[in-house]
Amino acid sequence: MQLSGKAVVVGLFGDPVKHSLSPRMQNAAIAASGLDAVYVPFHVTPTQLCDAVTGVRAMAIRGVNLTIPHKEAACHLVDELDEHAKMIGAINTIVNDGGRLKGYNTDVLGLQNVLKTELDVDLAGRRVLLVGAGGASRAALVALGQARAAWVGIANRTRARAQRLLEDLAPNFPGTAFAHYQLGPSLATAPPEPVDLLINATAVGLRDEDFGFPICASVRPGGAVYDMVYAAEPTRLIQGAKALGLAAADGRGMLAAQGEAAFQLWFGSTPGTQVMRRALDQAG
Ligand code: NAP
Repeated sequence: MQLSGKAVVVGLFGDPVKHSLSPRMQNAAIAASGLDAVYVPFHVTPTQLCDAVTGVRAMAIRGVNLTIPHKEAACHLVDELDEHAKMIGAINTIVNDGGRLKGYNTDVLGLQNVLKTELDVDLAGRRVLLVGAGGASRAALVALGQARAAWVGIANRTRARAQRLLEDLAPNFPGTAFAHYQLGPSLATAPPEPVDLLINATAVGLRDEDFGFPICASVRPGGAVYDMVYAAEPTRLIQGAKALGLAAADGRGMLAAQGEAAFQLWFGSTPGTQVMRRALDQAG
């Protein structure tokens, strides 16, 4: 990597940050695009976040990604939020335009893109079961509502959290019907009809565990499963979906797609197709 005195700096704020794959995929995209730029991981604790964001302005850093645990707190430290970020209440990308910071949530576009490109799912008119009610699920609900899904059921271990998520966000999408469920064995039969798509937006699968019941039974034959979780080996959810003949893909595609959206915001150009995805696959 040859950086000049005019090199553009972008990066990632997180705690922890050392296991992130974003530096690898963003720097691969920077290299493939021939840019005079670098993406740097910064270990920023919650108490240092405010100073770190001030540092973005002071050092004219072009932008940063935010990861755990900064996505919500960072919303209050920028000058402006894009429409998705306002709805979701969390940002994963900051763009610095001459000292004015704007926060974006590129998970929405990332999920919409990956469902289309990897699973060939057109969300309009579809029935979707969304599992989880955390930050990733909030972004997924906006992605589904905006793409005019016909019906979205949200199932969560803590059902009250799913209910709160719907109270916050469902009014933005009058064209979509919503319901909430307790995550558990009854879920395989609870939705009134089988769904076209199941999305896992929980942490289940990160440690090679499964839901403990056949959750894929709620998906119609020929339907699809998207697991936001990614691991070196296919998750148990992906294995179960494929065993039923369902289309299935893991979270690497979404990670790459949200990264591509951030890259576009910072550099005004798209990285080569699949450059980020290939970098993730090579990381194992
Ligand atoms: P979060 O805000 O902490 O929410 C975690 C969710 O997981 C909650 O719904 C929680 O349920 C549920 N959960 C955790 N452990 C569980 C268990 N043992 N059984 C059932 N449910 C459980 O996290 P997040 O930011 O939404 O992220 C969720 C997942 O999505 C993570 O695995 C993350 O890595 C992944 N993700 C991937 C991408 C990508 O680009 N691929 C992007 C964003 C997130 P309760 O409410 O009951 O606690």
